Formats: sequence, C-alpha cells, structure tokens
Amino acid sequence: MKTKQTIKLGISSCLLGNNVRYDGGHKLDQYILDTFGRIAEWVPICPEVASGMPVPRGPMQLVGDVAKPRLITIETGIDRTDELTRWIGIKLRELEQTGLRGFVFKARSPSCGVHDTELFSDSGKSVGIRAGLFAEAVMSRFPLVPVEDEETLRDPDIRGRFIALIMA
Ligand code: SF4
Repeated sequence: MKTKQTIKLGISSCLLGNNVRYDGGHKLDQYILDTFGRIAEWVPICPEVASGMPVPRGPMQLVGDVAKPRLITIETGIDRTDELTRWIGIKLRELEQTGLRGFVFKARSPSCGVHDTELFSDSGKSVGIRAGLFAEAVMSRFPLVPVEDEETLRDPDIRGRFIALIMA
C-alpha cells in the first residue's frame, strides 16, 4: 500500500518488466523495485514505443556528431531521429505538468542512457559515450530533477544522494 510519502518517479518502462525492448523482452530490475518500491509511484516511459516504433524492432545506436547524434538502426541504416525527436518535444511539455521528482533510466540505451550510451562514427567505429536522446532532453529541460540509471543507483553514495534529492 502506498503511503503519504509516495513520490512520482519516471522510469524506463523496460525496467518495470514491460516487454517494450527492441527484441520484445524487458529488463526487469528487481533491485530498483525493491529499493524504491515503498516510496515510489512509478511512471513508466518507453520513448521508442511511445514515439511509434514497433515491438520488436531493429536495434539502434547513436551515430555521428557528439553534439547532435542521429538514432540509426544498426542492421538497416534507417534514421529514426526525427520521429523520436518530435515525440520528445511533445512529451517534455506533458512532463512539465506531471511533477515527476526524479527519473530512473536504463543504462546504455540510445534513448534512455544517462551517462554511458555509446556513440559511433559513420563507419561504425566507437568514438565515445554520451547520454541517450530522451534522457539528454529530460536533463536539459529539468536540470534540477535528479536523474540516474539502474546501475549507478547500485552505488550507495549515488543512491543516498538521489533519495535525499527526490525526498527534499
Ligand atoms: S531502454 Fe528506454 S527506449 Fe529502450 S526499451 Fe527501455 S524504456 Fe524503451
């Protein structure tokens, strides 16, 4: 049962066990659910499915300029950047009204990654890491809202800071 202290947190939908990943599966993270379950009211978001992409779908990666990468399907080279970006613009306006106190995103995803999404050159060479496109947009629009991924939240110091911020 939720208490008065329930806090609305956005979360990558696949971490809740929803089958929204490119391969039709999920990435249920029981640790995150157990750790935050008593205080969190989860608001699941899957940017790729919500922007109209099917399940399953071809895996994608970020390609090109680190400041303005494109979201490209790995096997077929289709550029999905514009459809995702259009949806992000609409979603950010909606989130301004939702009052989320924090986000838990899926590490390394080209859409949801916070710190460690791989960036590739046009020739397919790994050239760095950055945030995924949706997580980056959230952090830019809501700079005071704490954002972490399911892996960084394993770190006791990072987790403690995150909890203090979402409860402040
Ligand atoms: S990482 Fe993000 S975009 Fe990918 S399946 Fe999970 S919620 Fe959807």
